[in-house]
Amino acid sequence: MITVTKAFIPDRDKYQRYVDNIFDSGQLTNNGPLLKELESRLANYLGVKNLILVANGSLALQVAYKALNLKGEVITSPFSFAATTSTLLWENLHPIFADINPATFNLDPKNIINNLSTNTSAILPVHVFGNPCEVEQIRQIADEYNLKVIYDASHAFGVDYLINSAEKTSVLNFGDISTISLHSTKLFHSIEGGAIITSDDDLAKRIRLLINFGISSPDTIDDVGTNAKMNEFEAAMGLCVLDEIENIKKLRSQIWNNYEVELKDFVEFQKWHPLSMNNHAYAPILLKNQSELLNLKNTLEENNIYPRRYFYPSLDDIEITKHCSNKTKSNSKLISEKILCLPIYPGLSEKDQLRICEIVLKTIKT
Ligand SMILES: *Cc1c(COP(=O)(O)O)cnc(C)c1O
Repeated sequence: MITVTKAFIPDRDKYQRYVDNIFDSGQLTNNGPLLKELESRLANYLGVKNLILVANGSLALQVAYKALNLKGEVITSPFSFAATTSTLLWENLHPIFADINPATFNLDPKNIINNLSTNTSAILPVHVFGNPCEVEQIRQIADEYNLKVIYDASHAFGVDYLINSAEKTSVLNFGDISTISLHSTKLFHSIEGGAIITSDDDLAKRIRLLINFGISSPDTIDDVGTNAKMNEFEAAMGLCVLDEIENIKKLRSQIWNNYEVELKDFVEFQKWHPLSMNNHAYAPILLKNQSELLNLKNTLEENNIYPRRYFYPSLDDIEITKHCSNKTKSNSKLISEKILCLPIYPGLSEKDQLRICEIVLKTIKT
């Protein structure tokens, strides 16, 4: 069976050695040595100033909202994974959907302005499938209207952005905060996990407090916190996977390139930001319409191949968000109806890649 993604499994003996160390030291969690090592290696690898590891990507978002004291309305994208919106609702914030650009799949900056109100406190754009948003325009809007910016950068691990002809920076360096998910289905993972990235040292300090119950020293509780800590077993997995990251990226780009070569005349692809390079976290294709998509999905499933409809349904098309948008026909809904993510993970053989392409071509041509 071929699924849309598969968790990367590192060398068993290497992981076992970390587990032996954990057993010997007895420290299972609470800011342990492996967590600290992973934080510093990741910050270094990604090129970011402060990186705080947390239990998962959803808590990374929730802690970010608290750390920035968000209230009222938050403008966000309806074309995303459920957690982008459900974390807002969970924190009693009001998501306001601004429609996406149908070519990039990212929140269109001009729709931010249309949706502003006196209650807007922040913008929560998503770098969909790792594709950078219009970060410069979004920064300008945020500055002009005094809004916080949090990027749901769950997909944007290792994505750089060219700031001038000679210099690039991690896309995670934009916004007041960027969050990523390190769930096992993602490009880089620590079983479950997430990270909060900010270049503001004071904010980073507050976030460290918030993820540990607001406790600043054994006898001092300074803030209303929660428990969002990552444990040592997860950090150990992260360290093992990080050793393999270049190889993971290479294998993914080979698969992505094969899809592109085989399918480019017959399906549409996401338009990537010209100042950035694809990290090949996902392999989305756009079909002509929903019936072509359903037909293809059925045929692939008959062959034991399970692509996924990321993202479907569009988040502005579900009961729990009826109060978050007034648009009936959004680009987000239109894209949701005809987008399919093909299998992409290290270990997907070239033979299987070509078989998938063959089925796609045969199905959409008939
Ligand atoms: C995976 C994902 C999340 C949630 O991350 P978890 O680690 O699974 O909690 C949030 N937003 C987006 C866009 C995601 O893809």
